[in-house]
Amino acid sequence: MDNCIFCKIVEGKIPCAKIYEDELVLAFLDISPICKGHALVIPREHHQSISSVPENIAGRITHVAGRIGIAFKRALDADGFNFHLSDGACAGQVVWHAHMHVVPRGPEDGFRWNWRQLKYDSDAERNDFVEKIKSKLKT
Ligand code: AMP
Ligand code: ZN
Repeated sequence: MDNCIFCKIVEGKIPCAKIYEDELVLAFLDISPICKGHALVIPREHHQSISSVPENIAGRITHVAGRIGIAFKRALDADGFNFHLSDGACAGQVVWHAHMHVVPRGPEDGFRWNWRQLKYDSDAERNDFVEKIKSKLKT
């Protein structure tokens, strides 16, 4: 894909701090980490959305991200890690080549997700969400 920075990384046209690669995916350090070690796992194939990534490749992305999380614990003394994926501009996606963030975490790392907790107005409202989503969910 022309003008995709992550395709250029896959093709070796621009450099990256690579930590893993195989026939399906590539992993490298994020250039502006939330915490040092923060990595991105990307498919070699260009897909704008994770929803169009074939199941075997999506599975590999998740598997490799989990292995990187374990490496954070062993190599960086991390206590845990977060996965994060932005899909769509409103969700914060700025690079239009699907990618999974893996962020090493520790109790003193100074970062907190700004995670709000709404409530459904009623059981009926919650059930309405269940039915609407189920009716369009194709796997
Ligand atoms: P987002 O699309 O919001 O999930 O985030 C894209 C991420 O890609 C950001 O965290 C950027 O810091 C990161 N990023 C952008 N360009 C590069 C690059 N050349 N090498 C490594 N990370 C990058
Ligand atoms: Zn791309």
